[in-house]
Amino acid sequence: MHHQKFLSLFKQILSTPTAPFHEYQVAAVIRKRLAEIPAVTVFEDSYGNLIAHYKTGKSKPHLAFGAHMDHPGWVKHEGKEEFLGWVPKERWDTHPVEWFGEFGMWKLSPFKVKDGQIHSRVCDDLVGCAAIIALFLELEASGKDASVYGIFTRAEEVGFVGAVELAKNWPLPEGVRFVSLETSAARGGAEMGKGPVIRVGDRMSVFDDGVTAELVDAGTEEKIDHQRALLDGGSCEATAMNVFGIPAAGISVILGNYHNCPPKKGIAEEFIALSDAKNLVKLISVTTLRMADSKASSSSKAKLKKRLEKRVRDGKKYWKSAKGLWENS
Ligand SMILES: [Zn+2]
Repeated sequence: MHHQKFLSLFKQILSTPTAPFHEYQVAAVIRKRLAEIPAVTVFEDSYGNLIAHYKTGKSKPHLAFGAHMDHPGWVKHEGKEEFLGWVPKERWDTHPVEWFGEFGMWKLSPFKVKDGQIHSRVCDDLVGCAAIIALFLELEASGKDASVYGIFTRAEEVGFVGAVELAKNWPLPEGVRFVSLETSAARGGAEMGKGPVIRVGDRMSVFDDGVTAELVDAGTEEKIDHQRALLDGGSCEATAMNVFGIPAAGISVILGNYHNCPPKKGIAEEFIALSDAKNLVKLISVTTLRMADSKASSSSKAKLKKRLEKRVRDGKKYWKSAKGLWENS
């Protein structure tokens, strides 16, 4: 995707105010962007999660990429101002709050690009939301047939509320697997700027190895910068899905100032490497297209099985030559 087009999409999504249960402004902007893509249809479930389907030609869907539309913030409830989301209490009152009607966010820069990084009052998880729209635009530009879902959930920051309701009333066809797109603090040796992190798990669960293998293969074979790590600093919506029986995997972009918390004190913009966001979009686009190609689909594990079988065949000669010693010992 052209650099300017990429930046203007991310700027538009990340600059939109949001808070847990108050995602309506982001949802409206996402709907507007999706309406511009003819191959996309959107429906809203009874909890307000948006489920978008990109479909051209006859290809079958394999994946649903998910991101949450909220971010820790302030809400008005029964006349009182309450903070929702995980941020240490001692920081709540250390920074001015900007109100958008019934919800508020810390007064921070909505979007700024500096030294190859995006700085914003909310990267988590509007980066994931913007990446899904960018994926659809990439598929459209490729002109190839594909079928893939994008799911935009609500109230993740207070305990995966939207994702749990979605998993309990899973609306997608049998066999479609969920891939959580997140931003996360660096853990497990992963570093900012070295590509999106294909998560083998989070703090609470391990992820679907079939989908994880597809993502790693796509990244490796198409030479897209990526990392593979256990990011156990927090948990993501993939865990919520797994717990309710939907096979799920996850990809994260490494985040600085997680939940607006700089290392020691105060409140500041979150930031990510611009190149990581671009590589995330590349990785999910390429994976979607590879899986849409029936010859390549479900191939990652099949290929691994073949490799292991070959190793067994190659090892047979040593097996045979050691046979006599084995039996006589
Ligand atoms: Zn978060």
